[in-house]
Amino acid sequence: MSAIPPAFGPTEPIPCDDDRDAFATVNISMVVSREQLRAALAIGHAEQAGQPPLADLEVLDVRREVEGYLAAVAIISTEQETATARISPELLAELDAAIDRAYTRRQFIHEAQAPSYSEGTVTLQTLDRGEVTVPEPAWCKGHEGELVGPLSQVTHDGSDITADVDGLPLVRANLTHAPYLELEPEPHPLVYVEGLEAASFDADGLRQVVAEGRAFLDRLEALAGQLDALAEEGSS
Ligand SMILES: [Zn+2]
Repeated sequence: MSAIPPAFGPTEPIPCDDDRDAFATVNISMVVSREQLRAALAIGHAEQAGQPPLADLEVLDVRREVEGYLAAVAIISTEQETATARISPELLAELDAAIDRAYTRRQFIHEAQAPSYSEGTVTLQTLDRGEVTVPEPAWCKGHEGELVGPLSQVTHDGSDITADVDGLPLVRANLTHAPYLELEPEPHPLVYVEGLEAASFDADGLRQVVAEGRAFLDRLEALAGQLDALAEEGSS
């Protein structure tokens, strides 16, 4: 296979059979040929007794048909294999251990943090390490309401500073530190700067932009000083 072709979907999660308890949503991307698409659509559509006619299907319905057929085939053959396979209790325990490692702590997925703070630390839930207690910088605005994720995604964010003109937030910035990132580690806090709304201004408006911009730059400059101080604290 040369290049990976464009991706479409998944349109929506396909529920498992009603007799089973839903445990995890497994997302896979399948690269298929036009012939395979055609076959999946033809069989899926035939199973719906050809109704509504293909020409009347919305784009998303066509994709649902294809995804539903591919998923059904995979699940049905998995069930057939399971019905005939003999699995020893030892193997069963090993399988469950591997599943618990790979599909863990689902009770926290999509759950919000309920952080508890104590002398310069915060205790948070993580998907990969369970409960962790990490240093909480004084400038962090807290972790209430954040979604539980892996430790690497734990990020401390300071309060926003913005340049607002006529209530339009043009630029915003905040102190930030993700100390546990694996790919691009952040040994010291950084300042995240984001440009926001676009707008056109007349001369007076533009003067306001300049005034706000100057004040914003002054505050950014102060943050640069704060970054120096924090880096020094962190490495001492
Ligand atoms: Zn924090």
